[in-house]
Amino acid sequence: MNKVQCVRGTYDLYGEAKRKTKKVISVGGSIVEKYGFEEIETPVFEFTEVFSRNLGDTSDIVTKEMYCFEDRGGESLTLRPEGTAGVVRAFISEGMQQNLPVKLYYAGPMFRYERPQKGRQRQFTQFGVELLGVETPQADIEIIAMAYEFIENLGLGGTITVEINSLGDKESRDAYREKLVAYLRANYDRLSEDSKNRLEKNPLRVLDSKEECDKEVVAGAPLYQDSLNEASKSFFEAVLRGLDNLGIKYHVNNRLVRGLDYYSHTVFELTTDKLGAQGTVLAGGRYDGLVEQMGGGKVPGIGWACGVERLAMLLDEDVSLPRPIAVIPVGGEADAKALEIAYQLRKAGFRVDQAYGGNLKKRMMKANKANAAKAVIIGTDELAEGNVTLRDLDCGEQQIIPLDRLIERLK
Ligand code: ATP
Ligand code: MG
Repeated sequence: MNKVQCVRGTYDLYGEAKRKTKKVISVGGSIVEKYGFEEIETPVFEFTEVFSRNLGDTSDIVTKEMYCFEDRGGESLTLRPEGTAGVVRAFISEGMQQNLPVKLYYAGPMFRYERPQKGRQRQFTQFGVELLGVETPQADIEIIAMAYEFIENLGLGGTITVEINSLGDKESRDAYREKLVAYLRANYDRLSEDSKNRLEKNPLRVLDSKEECDKEVVAGAPLYQDSLNEASKSFFEAVLRGLDNLGIKYHVNNRLVRGLDYYSHTVFELTTDKLGAQGTVLAGGRYDGLVEQMGGGKVPGIGWACGVERLAMLLDEDVSLPRPIAVIPVGGEADAKALEIAYQLRKAGFRVDQAYGGNLKKRMMKANKANAAKAVIIGTDELAEGNVTLRDLDCGEQQIIPLDRLIERLK
């Protein structure tokens, strides 16, 4: 039997919560457009391989969290768990490689089968950006600056920390991997079952484990920075110097790795201490190998994505809408005129509230409830002379004015 409720881990967004998520997305859009990013909308589902082959087959997302299904044609499809793989798929299939750099942003629902808790949903919204075709640290600096400006514009600048690390290039990664494997083997018995498995397939993933026993082992693991080669070190130095120049504060966190396989060089997260265990609000990094791995050319990339609901929860002020004007007819004959006046006021750009029934007193109460600033009261007698009453609902003062001066007076 169908229950009249939404599926576990999904939510109806409306009222204040919806206003806040909408604000996060619109502030994000206006910031990143200043940097030259254009919006792209890719499908909510893709062929399963788009994710399974590219996110890494030991990642949490691929092993435990994807919503995969077979469609009626027998095709294996997956509801997208993140945005980058789909955008890069579009970048390749739409032939965008001809015109680099390409700067894209997106906003939309993502789906992960996770254990629902505060800030962790099964359907959630991400806003994200991808910059393709720039291999120099300039891209890393700009993309982090953009994330920072976005968070500041939401009024959250003071509550957020930028955590940053470098995974280096392939040579550095291989060198680190070797040291890490040796260390993890020496501590094999203390690892979780998942991590014992990861140790064989993708040992770096162990660093990202959320299991307590793994965290204890990881605390003593060799540091990534000691394995970076000269080229990777100087790349990372250039990124940090660039951030210093812009006055962006960061914290180098040598334990920061990202959960997906495709990252190299710079990885970063913006975190807050206000959401408990779900403190990461925005995360990203460089993915120089991904386009090629997906069948495109050698095109470097870097991007980030933020959890829109997590950011929305941090906004303490409700998003204010302009206060409406209430249009109130008195007596049935004024109804038609009221509709007409409301229509004209809306066309002139005002937000207008109209109760659809009730006497003057009832309608006044509704106008106050809607937080209207002013009421236009339309009585038949005044109307016959071409007038209406304009009442200030804050101080109670009212005046009779000619209808044809109404818009001018309200402005
Ligand atoms: P976590 O370690 O919290 O699981 P993640 O590494 O899986 O995060 P990303 O894939 O980097 O997260 O996603 C980017 C952002 O999207 C996160 O920082 C977070 O703000 C948000 N996000 C990720 N998963 C969820 C979810 N299940 N519900 C709500 N927001 C989420
Ligand atoms: Mg996760």
